[in-house]
Amino acid sequence: MAGEPQADCLFCKIVAGDVPATVVRESQEIIAFRDINPQAPTHILVIPKAHYPDAAALAAAEPQLAADVLVEAGEVAAEENIAPSGSGPGTGYRIVFNTGSGAGQTVFHAHAHLLGGRGFNWPPG
Ligand code: 5GP
Ligand code: ZN
Repeated sequence: MAGEPQADCLFCKIVAGDVPATVVRESQEIIAFRDINPQAPTHILVIPKAHYPDAAALAAAEPQLAADVLVEAGEVAAEENIAPSGSGPGTGYRIVFNTGSGAGQTVFHAHAHLLGGRGFNWPPG
């Protein structure tokens, strides 16, 4: 059934507590934890506890939950002091959904990368 835990999914194992993670925020439906290989001073993964293979599948199946992932990402950004206020490196962040292996997705459980605490280039590469 859509959204059910998958035995071979790393992030489902983190949700279940079978794989440890540094959790920074958790609600009934969403969990946010630090990326094991951070690409910025703040690099947090915000994921629905329900299993969907990518952000588009999540949004198609449960649009409110997809929106809630963005709300949570904003809340985490505020807690991490990377929300855009003032000037300097701590004044903005990126939310990235790698979708498909060609775009760098390696874990096929929908997740938002919240990245901040440094400058960013555009285009992102
Ligand atoms: P993707 O490449 O699918 O967009 O992102 C997967 C992310 O999961 C990567 O940034 C990777 O560093 C992170 N990751 C992989 N394994 C683990 C793990 O066991 N724990 C945590 N916290 N992050 C992980
Ligand atoms: Zn999963």
